[in-house]
Amino acid sequence: MNKKIWLSSPHMGGTEQNYVKDAFDTNWVAPLGPNITEFENTLQAYLGRNSQVAALNSGTSAIHLALIMAGISQGAEVLCQSFTFSATANPILYQGASPVFVDSEKDTWNMCPVALEKAIVDRLAKGKKPKAIIVVDSYGMPAKWEQLAAIAKKYSLVLIEDAASALGSSYKGQKCGTFGDFGVLSFNGNKIITTSGGGVLITSSKKQKDKAIFFATQSRDNAPHYQHSEIGYNYRLSNICAGIGRGQMEVLDKHLQLRRNMHHFYVNLFKNIDEVNVFSVPSDDYFANYWLTAIVVTPNAAKGINRETLRLALEADNIESRPLWKPMHLQPIFSNYPYYGETVAETLFENGLCLPSGSNLTEEERIRITEAVVRFFE
Ligand SMILES: *Cc1c(COP(=O)(O)O)cnc(C)c1O
Repeated sequence: MNKKIWLSSPHMGGTEQNYVKDAFDTNWVAPLGPNITEFENTLQAYLGRNSQVAALNSGTSAIHLALIMAGISQGAEVLCQSFTFSATANPILYQGASPVFVDSEKDTWNMCPVALEKAIVDRLAKGKKPKAIIVVDSYGMPAKWEQLAAIAKKYSLVLIEDAASALGSSYKGQKCGTFGDFGVLSFNGNKIITTSGGGVLITSSKKQKDKAIFFATQSRDNAPHYQHSEIGYNYRLSNICAGIGRGQMEVLDKHLQLRRNMHHFYVNLFKNIDEVNVFSVPSDDYFANYWLTAIVVTPNAAKGINRETLRLALEADNIESRPLWKPMHLQPIFSNYPYYGETVAETLFENGLCLPSGSNLTEEERIRITEAVVRFFE
């Protein structure tokens, strides 16, 4: 059997272990220490706009803290992009609040501003008052931020940006993660850089950053004994993991370029194949990290071509690919919550596929992918 080609696997730069060793040498083997501070500082400088970054143990924790800091509690409504990974929506339920799912638009596959405004107007007419919106930069593609931010402002909604997979992406030069009142990045093993597991919450003030760290370290009041006036969480990143993150930040630009090269590779590979469209930026205003290259396959029954037959053909050659996200409003766990929109997300799920996109893929692996694809479409 051929060696497995992964969708997206960890890609170390080489210096990560030095920072991990530092942590051991100085005994900062704790969710506290110099690697955390330096990792946060490096990210703050990278993101710009005076971003304040709190390092956490996952992107999911970051979304949860964003909701807590947005004041989301029992009974509140949160508008949420339906086309996403479940970790975007689960924290709404952690808070006892209700998601209201919104469809995507075709250019960026992210929240549709028209469907969003329709949803808000209808919720208000029903006597509800949504408090926040969670928008995703799917697969590293920036959302339509100008329109979405204007709607959030018009209706006084807290805007949360799930940029979990969009580190390095930008819209009109502004980095993803900085468009909302709160931004989220993930450093899980499959993301563009990894800390083996981790994430950050991005805020715009030092006060909010400190508050996020307060919640993430068990909400300890200022007292010599353990004293608590608010619910606490154990969400801080470890100093060991932050060491991996420091090393990864040194190769971020290089790895970003390699991901973009993979996208370019697929654009070339599929350029003469009518049934396949490679998901690409709608205009030069958008800069995507192409965390995963995604395609949409137009079914061709006569030739036996569709998303699933292509996926199985790749799998037969031990090449991993995965259908695009199954929208949240179609997930059994979320089936009882309202949904606004058409069938954009649903159609993407039916016909879309993510392809191996790691920055560590070799020329040999690209040749295997090419051969498998050519064989399938012949
Ligand atoms: C990976 C991911 C998350 C979750 O991040 P974790 O660090 O794995 O908790 C949330 N949202 C999106 C869009 C993601 O891709």
